[in-house]
Amino acid sequence: MNKQELEKIKQKALEDHIPIIMDDTLEVVAKILQEVKPSRILEIGTAVGYSAICFSEYLQPNGRIDTIERDEERARQARKNIKKVEVEDKIRIYEGDAVEILPTLQESYDVVFIDAAKGKYPFFLSQAIRMSHKGTVIIADNVLYKGYVMGDYNKHKQRTAVRNLREYIAETTNNEYLETEILEVGDGLAISKKK
Ligand code: SAH
Ligand code: MG
Repeated sequence: MNKQELEKIKQKALEDHIPIIMDDTLEVVAKILQEVKPSRILEIGTAVGYSAICFSEYLQPNGRIDTIERDEERARQARKNIKKVEVEDKIRIYEGDAVEILPTLQESYDVVFIDAAKGKYPFFLSQAIRMSHKGTVIIADNVLYKGYVMGDYNKHKQRTAVRNLREYIAETTNNEYLETEILEVGDGLAISKKK
């Protein structure tokens, strides 16, 4: 992969205020990917493709990432970026709302990365579990949402997001088939392994 191009993609995304994966979060996810050695990764929330491109380095030969983005302009940019770093044979972009696209997917994934609308996390989780197998790791970014989730904060305009993130944490923690860890890395990272 062309690291110089990747760095340019990252800088442009930061300039454009696109919420790409934070460096410390990426480090943690990269470690998990090195352990799992995935062939199939599902990502919900492509943005401009930065995280998918980073993850593609850890795919097994012939592995593939399916990633979903509902914003047309971002999906277009992601396609361009993926071409630039020459990983277009490893990443498939689904353009549209993940709420509609996920139920149409009938695959089994080794890793799922949830990084989209916070209010939909419980639904994304149910879909991720449906497409999991023993050993699948489901990772969700931004679960602590700037500290709102753990605080007694519920009067904000983002309260629906906060309520759904709390539900996500409760469901992953209480689900007897999942082993879950919540890390304070970045904006909060939930890591759930299917038993
Ligand atoms: N994973 C990316 C960042 C994703 S930012 C990276 O680290 O590089 C979150 C993205 O999710 C945004 O681009 C937003 O348009 C998209 N998104 C939010 N809700 C969505 C939904 N319901 N379906 C598909 N995409 C969604
Ligand atoms: Mg994120």
